[in-house]
Amino acid sequence: MKTPNSPRDESRPAAAHDSATKPAGKSIDHPRIERAVREILAAVGEDPDREGLLETPARVARMYAEMFSGLHLDPKVHLRKAFQEKYDEIVLVRDIAFNSVCEHHLLPFMGHAHIGYLPNGRVLGLSKLARVVEVVSHRPQVQERMTETIADLLENDLGAKGVAVVVEASHTCMTIRGVRKPGSLCVTSAMKGVFRSNVSSRAEVMSLIYGSRAK
Ligand SMILES: [Zn+2]
Repeated sequence: MKTPNSPRDESRPAAAHDSATKPAGKSIDHPRIERAVREILAAVGEDPDREGLLETPARVARMYAEMFSGLHLDPKVHLRKAFQEKYDEIVLVRDIAFNSVCEHHLLPFMGHAHIGYLPNGRVLGLSKLARVVEVVSHRPQVQERMTETIADLLENDLGAKGVAVVVEASHTCMTIRGVRKPGSLCVTSAMKGVFRSNVSSRAEVMSLIYGSRAK
């Protein structure tokens, strides 16, 4: 349904930390997660000591460490890799796949981010946009804040003249529980700079994002 034309991120970002704006202060405490998972299992009426569940708390701890790794990484690291370039047209990377975790239910939501920006003398390596998404997505959050966080980073730390971020995601907290609406897609956008103030610039970036999409 979508054109897979964006680079996928293979390696983990370099360590450092930041959580949207402020440091998290701690790293992931595996034994604490393990104790908590045992408690949940007991609380739902399971026997945490039966064979099939014995390794589960440790496995869940490793999984959370991965899914929330972005709490202890600083996405700005990747924005510092920008280079001087006299390119003053829109740069767009579409269909950056991500998965994140909804902070209301601790269930995954996953989808694609599309990021366009208008450089102000500094251009970012294309894979760096995917790395920023990778770091920011690996935090407990709501999709709206994830979208804003990415846009703010590009506006403030890259100094882009305009930033457009569109995120499309499917939320498992809506598909497997509650209203149970599989197939529903949540779309959020954040427009900064000229894409916010100038209607024709915004129309241009939105047509690049949605224009030649193969459905
Ligand atoms: Zn949720």
